[in-house]
Amino acid sequence: MGTIAWNGYRHLELYYAVSGSGSVLHTLNPRLHLDQVVWIADHAEDQVLFFDKTFLPLVEAVAERLATVRHFVLMVDRDQMPVEHKLPGLLCYEDLISGQDDEFMWPEFDENTASSLCYTSGTTGNPKGVLYSHRSTVLHTYASALPDALNLSARDAVLPVVPMFHVNAWGLPYSACMVGAKLVFPGPGLDGKSLYELFEAEGVTLSAGVPTVWQGLLTHVQGHQLRFSTMKRTVIGGSACPPAMMASFEDNYGVQVIHAWGMTELSPIGTVCMLKGHQLGLPVGERRAVQAKQGRAVFGIDMKIVDDHGEELPWDGRTAGELLVRGPWVVDQYLKGEHSPLVVTDGRGWFPTGDVATIDNDGFMNITDRSKDVIKSGGEWIGAIDLENIAMAHPAVAMAACIGARHPKWDERPLLVVVRTPGAEVTRDELIAFFEGRIAKWWTPDDVVFVDAIPLGATGKMLKTRLREQFQDHLLAQA
Ligand code: AMP
Repeated sequence: MGTIAWNGYRHLELYYAVSGSGSVLHTLNPRLHLDQVVWIADHAEDQVLFFDKTFLPLVEAVAERLATVRHFVLMVDRDQMPVEHKLPGLLCYEDLISGQDDEFMWPEFDENTASSLCYTSGTTGNPKGVLYSHRSTVLHTYASALPDALNLSARDAVLPVVPMFHVNAWGLPYSACMVGAKLVFPGPGLDGKSLYELFEAEGVTLSAGVPTVWQGLLTHVQGHQLRFSTMKRTVIGGSACPPAMMASFEDNYGVQVIHAWGMTELSPIGTVCMLKGHQLGLPVGERRAVQAKQGRAVFGIDMKIVDDHGEELPWDGRTAGELLVRGPWVVDQYLKGEHSPLVVTDGRGWFPTGDVATIDNDGFMNITDRSKDVIKSGGEWIGAIDLENIAMAHPAVAMAACIGARHPKWDERPLLVVVRTPGAEVTRDELIAFFEGRIAKWWTPDDVVFVDAIPLGATGKMLKTRLREQFQDHLLAQA
C-alpha cells in the first residue's frame, strides 16, 4: 500500500493499520521527479495509493502510468472531497473508516513478515527498495529510544520534521508511541515561522530533522528575537550538522543538539552522539568537537572502518576508512535485488555504507566524507564536510558545498561553491583567508565560485553530482 502524504495523524494511522494488518506500508517521496514516482510505485507493485489533498495534482499526473495501483484513496473528510478530479473511482479515507467496526482482531504472523518499504534517495542510478520487517522495526524502535540514543519518554512531546516518507521519519512514529510520548505533526508547514508557532502551541520538547530545516527555523527565531519555551532537544542528521548551528542552538537557545547518523538501509539509526560521563566536564571547545561527530553505535549496530583492501583500521580518531556496519536492522538485500550489497570480511557480511569515517577510542564515529563524493588530492583524503563546516561558520555564507575539481598536478583539489547570505558581501580572497589556521594549509580550497542556489535533492541534501558536472573543469580552465 503506497502513501504520498505529509506528517499527519492519518499517515500515522496508516503506519499501524497497514503493517499491523499484514500488508506492507510503502511511503513514497513526493519530492521526486514524476518519472521516478512512477518507477518506484511500479517496482514496489503498490496496489492502493493513499494521498493527501496537496498531492492530488501529482497523483492525477501519474495515475494513468501506474501499472499496479487499483484504488486511489484521498485522505480527507467527505466534505473535503473535490467535485472535479481526474481519478476514476476515487475513494474517501474517512468514508472507508466510518463504515467499519471499531473492534479489530490484529492478526498474528511471523516476526520476519515485511512491514514497510522505503526507497533510497537515489542520487545516482535507480532508487533501491529497502524492505523492513516487524522484527527489524521493533528492535530498531527499542534501540532508538534508549537514553544514549534519542532518550525518549512519556514526558516528551515529539515533533518529527523529518518526513514520514523519508525512512519512516527516523522511526519516531514507532518510538514515540512505544514510550507513550505525545506526537505533534506539522503537515506541510515546514517553514521557520510555522514550526516555531507549533512548537510553542503544543509544548514540543523534542524535534528532529535535517540541517536545512533548522537553518530556516533559526533564521526566523533570530530575526524576531524569539525564545523556545519548551523545546529542549533536537535531533539533527541526514547530513552533517554544522558546528555553528549546534553552537547557536545550545548557546543562544539552550536547546541540546543530538547529532545522529543513519541511512535508509539502517531503518535509519546507526549512531547517535551522546557524551560519555568523562566528557561532560570538558572545556566547551573540546566538548563541541566531540558533539560534531556522528556518535557512537546504538546497541545492535556493529561498525568498523576498513582500507581499500578490506583490512580493519584502528579506532584512533585520525585514520579514515570506509565505514561498514552490520546488525538486525541493516539491509542484506535490496528489494528484487539480484546481488547482495554486503561485503564479506572476517567471514561475516557487512554493509558498505559508502561513507568515509574515523572512529576514536571512545567509539565516536566521525564521517569525513562519502566515498563517491570524496576529494582525493595527491593521493590523500580531504574532508569536504570539514571545509563546508568552516565556510558555513562565516557570517556571509548561507550555504556552502565543497567538491573535488580536476587539477593538472594534484588530480583533484577542493573547490568551494558558495551561496551568500542575502545582503552580505564577501570576496573569494576573504573566504580563502578565513580557512587560515583552521585546517592544514594544503586543505585550503583552490578557488571559490559564488552561485545563487545550490541544487538540492528530494530529501534536502546538496546534489554534489550536479555541482561536479558544472564545475569539475573550473580549475583546469584556470590553469
Ligand atoms: P539516506 O539513506 O538518504 O538517509 O542517506 C544516508 C546518508 O546520508 C549516509 O550514508 C550519509 O552519507 C549521510 N548522512 C546521514 N546522516 C549524516 C550525518 N549526521 N552526517 C553526515 N552525513 C550523514
